[in-house]
Amino acid sequence: MNRTSLRQATGPISFALIVLVCWFVAGMVADRMVQQELDAAMRAQRQMSVSIVDNMAEVIASDLSLARAIPATMAKMDVVQRALAQSQNYAANSEVAEPAQRDALLKIPALTAVSSFLHEAQGFSGLDSIWLVNAHGTCVAAGNAPGGHSFIGIDMRSRAYLTQSLLGAFTEAYGVGRKSGEPGIFIAAPVYDDGILIGAVVAKVGIARLRHWVAHAGTFVADDNGVIIMAHDSAIEGNALPNSRVVQMSDAERLNTYHRQSFPDVQIAADNKHLQSQAPWVPHSIAIDLFTMAAKPVPALYDTRGGLNSGLSAHLVDPLSAWPELLRNHTRDHLLVFLTMAGIVSLAWVITVSYVRERRLHREARDLADQLQSANTLLSAEARHDALTGALSRRYFLDLLRREIERARPKGERLCMAIADLDHFKQINDRFGHAAGDRALEHFVDTCRAELRGSDAIGRLGGEEFGILLPATSLETGLDVVERLRNRLKTQPSPKLPAAVELSVSIGITELSADDLPERIMSRADLALYAAKTGGRDRTEALPPDDTAPPTRATADIY
Ligand code: GH3
Ligand code: MG
Ligand code: MG
Repeated sequence: MNRTSLRQATGPISFALIVLVCWFVAGMVADRMVQQELDAAMRAQRQMSVSIVDNMAEVIASDLSLARAIPATMAKMDVVQRALAQSQNYAANSEVAEPAQRDALLKIPALTAVSSFLHEAQGFSGLDSIWLVNAHGTCVAAGNAPGGHSFIGIDMRSRAYLTQSLLGAFTEAYGVGRKSGEPGIFIAAPVYDDGILIGAVVAKVGIARLRHWVAHAGTFVADDNGVIIMAHDSAIEGNALPNSRVVQMSDAERLNTYHRQSFPDVQIAADNKHLQSQAPWVPHSIAIDLFTMAAKPVPALYDTRGGLNSGLSAHLVDPLSAWPELLRNHTRDHLLVFLTMAGIVSLAWVITVSYVRERRLHREARDLADQLQSANTLLSAEARHDALTGALSRRYFLDLLRREIERARPKGERLCMAIADLDHFKQINDRFGHAAGDRALEHFVDTCRAELRGSDAIGRLGGEEFGILLPATSLETGLDVVERLRNRLKTQPSPKLPAAVELSVSIGITELSADDLPERIMSRADLALYAAKTGGRDRTEALPPDDTAPPTRATADIY
């Protein structure tokens, strides 16, 4: 797999991976953000819940102490004690005997008077009913005496609150009235006469009068058996708290107190499973403080105060009001953080790609510049030198000549210029081939290099014609130098040339005059060369700086 197809294959995978990682990290950030909001919302709502439940407990306590005060006071009243003392002999031992008992009791004027008194007391005390029970457990006087529900004559010993009271205890308990079927709180105060227990005053406060206890949504009151006796949501009244004592009671006891047998459980539980599926971001430490009630999707705070009067307990299941908004916030935060992260990652990616591309372009530009520079160097070397022989090019040689004249003249330094032309070169080409001609040209330049100083210069003026520049040299010395050169060419032939090749050169030399221009010194050297050629070739001719002066004699006898 080549690099491009590998990149094509891994591209979408890495993209998906980056998106996945961003989504996951954004989820963690959103979790954190909403967890803090949840914490704050729970703290604020818990304060409210606590004050609601505290307030409820206070109201229950104060209502019940007021209700308790009435039977407690009556138990000490003469009229009550007398009535009970008078009715000590009445005892109904069976339900069948009750109507007769009732008739007998209703005929006793003193008891009828007490019943009227109790009736009035009921009216101003805010109690539903008040009645007196003698030591045998038989109701002897009642505030509701004239009504159909009168308890007079009834054997009330089966009532738990009464049993306790006839043993001398002040009792309070929740129960459902057997005759009325109305639930209420029953309060029983023992009555003594000269230290002997002669009966009890019993009062009932109907639950209907106490409904303000559960005025707040989510509140309910349970009795000490764990049965919900009143609730803001009346649907759960008669239900039982989980693991409450009512499930251990016998059927008869349950029927006695509540007039019912079944007590469905109210499902108030820290429901982590439901929370986990709905909002997995809720941490365990918070989830254990959140409760759900059956069929209610919103988690709630649950607060309770137990041990109130009459064994009652106050409860509040307060759904978290911020919950729907927190769910929305989590979705929104997750998305926003994800988009922000994706934006940052994309930006970083664009910057990285641009940087890498910029670096590559920069490297390419530098490589190009390097190539250009080496090409320029090569070009300028080629421009300065003749490609075949390596001698200076004509143009460069003439430039050099100009510079050397300008340098030498102010110092009054002497300078020689010579032009050398290979003899009968055409014939060499013709006889031995053009390649041999080239070798001959190379050999001539090599010979010059071997004979001349480092400061001297040789340039190819064209074809087989070369210029030789000898700075700081007098004409006499220059003449010696070019003569040595001419002789060396003849005595040391090139091994690269056929032995039959006889190379010779004609040279014209002259010296710089005071007012020479480059062209003038060149044409004087050319003139000297012409003289050498016409003088028979293979020789050197010299022309002095002042061409009117006689030329210095070199080899030949021209001058
Ligand atoms: P002379 O002694 O009068 O100078 O005779 P010559 O034959 O040397 O002079 P001519 O001007 O008649 O011929 C010069 C020849 O040099 C002609 C040309 O073909 C040859 N030539 C010029 N440049 C080159 C070159 O670069 N290589 C080769 N092989 N021959 C060259
Ligand atoms: Mg020639
Ligand atoms: Mg020539």
